[in-house]
Amino acid sequence: MALGRVEELRAAVRDVPDFPKRGIVFKDITPVLSDPVLFRASVDLFLERCRGLKIDKIVGIDARGFLFGSAVAYELGVGFVPIRKRGKLPYRTEIAKYSLEYGDAEMEMHVDAMSAGERIVLVDDLLATGGTSAAAAVLIRKAGGHLLEAQFLIELESLHGRKRLQPTPVTAFLKY
Ligand code: AMP
Repeated sequence: MALGRVEELRAAVRDVPDFPKRGIVFKDITPVLSDPVLFRASVDLFLERCRGLKIDKIVGIDARGFLFGSAVAYELGVGFVPIRKRGKLPYRTEIAKYSLEYGDAEMEMHVDAMSAGERIVLVDDLLATGGTSAAAAVLIRKAGGHLLEAQFLIELESLHGRKRLQPTPVTAFLKY
């Protein structure tokens, strides 16, 4: 993708200081989503990276990972699996605990969401400490999924989240 478009995306992400609590600078992607050119450009970044990976399923993380992940899965013609915060999924689940920049939480995935050996790409809007996506990676591996890569629109590099995801390869398109 042209560098100009990536810079446009970067400029559109809005910093909201002290949300959801003091000291956190929240990266608000809603200006990207509401702009048809930029929304397509953001999904295209994931798609370009996914082509050639022979993916069976995209796994998206609650909630903004659903926005990008489902668009990518639709375009690739593969299945989509949601990993959700505890208490949202109706069927039997596996649970993984994790800590994040602003508190502790648990993530869940349906026990039948994927079959052993399926080739999986994990998608979320933002990589911060890596706690959330590391928990998602645990759930994918527990289910026997082959996690090819974790992809993020945004990475907050100073938090070293990609270390927590090792040995999973990490791709992020906008780094701060
Ligand atoms: P972490 O587990 O610390 O990598 O946090 C990543 C998850 O929390 C992602 O699902 C993000 O949507 C959300 N998140 C964490 N920090 C921020 C931030 N500064 N701005 C926006 N979203 C964030």
